Amino acid sequence: MHNLISKAVESHNLNAEELLELLKNDAINPELFASADKVRKKFVGDKVLLRGLIEFSNICRNNCCYCGLRRDNRKLERYRMPPDEIVYLATDAVTKQGFQTIVLQSGEDLWFSQEILCDIIHRIKKTGCALTLSIGEKSAAEYQAYRAAGADRFLLRIETSDPALYEKYDPDMSWKKRVQCLYDLKDAGFELGCGCLVGLPGQSLESLANDVLFFKKIRADMIGIGPLIVHPDTPLNGNPNGSFTLALKVMALTRLLMPQINIPATTAMEALVKGGREMALNSGANVYMPKVTPLNLQSLYQLYRK
Ligand code: SAH
Ligand code: SF4
Repeated sequence: MHNLISKAVESHNLNAEELLELLKNDAINPELFASADKVRKKFVGDKVLLRGLIEFSNICRNNCCYCGLRRDNRKLERYRMPPDEIVYLATDAVTKQGFQTIVLQSGEDLWFSQEILCDIIHRIKKTGCALTLSIGEKSAAEYQAYRAAGADRFLLRIETSDPALYEKYDPDMSWKKRVQCLYDLKDAGFELGCGCLVGLPGQSLESLANDVLFFKKIRADMIGIGPLIVHPDTPLNGNPNGSFTLALKVMALTRLLMPQINIPATTAMEALVKGGREMALNSGANVYMPKVTPLNLQSLYQLYRK
């Protein structure tokens, strides 16, 4: 076995240079993926954890350059599910379809006030499920209110650990504020999900190595890594998609360094490559999030275009 991979399997520690060497070397990929698979099996077992994903609004106040939901995308028909429908879908997913975890995801849609969201959380938690939120940046007080209402986990990707790259592609947003949100979520008692995009134009392998170290530093409980898929109605139109294999490598390295965490086979991996979900689940991932969103709305929740 390549000595750096065996070092990672045994110590769950690599520095930036060592990560970079493995990212650069594609000859080691089969060994890297197999090792991440073994570490996954040893630390989190063979069960694939299922989370029912409800994409409840595609309205967003932000303008992230890679995302089809960005506010300047006027071509997208927008929708907002009424609270009763969100609660109905979640309850149905738990009581009839057997999901034990529900994930509520949306653009940053300010119509959903703290009061409305807390009411939704409270009603969904009556089913006894675990509840994950993925609704973007809020104040520390709001995060605390959602936690008090019963939400258990929160997904907020850093997108990239490089502040300059982040602020280039997330105009009007601050990398420091994003990091502060991650710590506020931890302080509020959430299980923390983070992650990054792979394939932003200008993103180097060094930068991806730092992303993996960033996840370890913030002690995330879950990490979602997805290849960038270019949406034509965004400023990234004309750029190439991110590499599936590179995203898989970043994911496998994250598993080696953080053996106990949950790692989803992301929808972007599945969308980019046929069989991508299975490949991810055989290379370190242990979670899958089927969409519970009604089909007619799924087609409008266009982070990227398939
Ligand atoms: N608005 C919330 C949650 C919805 S976006 C937030 O931004 O946190 C969820 C994730 O989709 C983002 O974190 C981003 O990493 C991913 N995403 C957005 N556009 C994408 C694209 N074009 N290709 C792949 N993933 C994308
Ligand atoms: Fe909005 Fe999230 Fe898309 Fe950024 S990534 S535009 S915050 S939905």
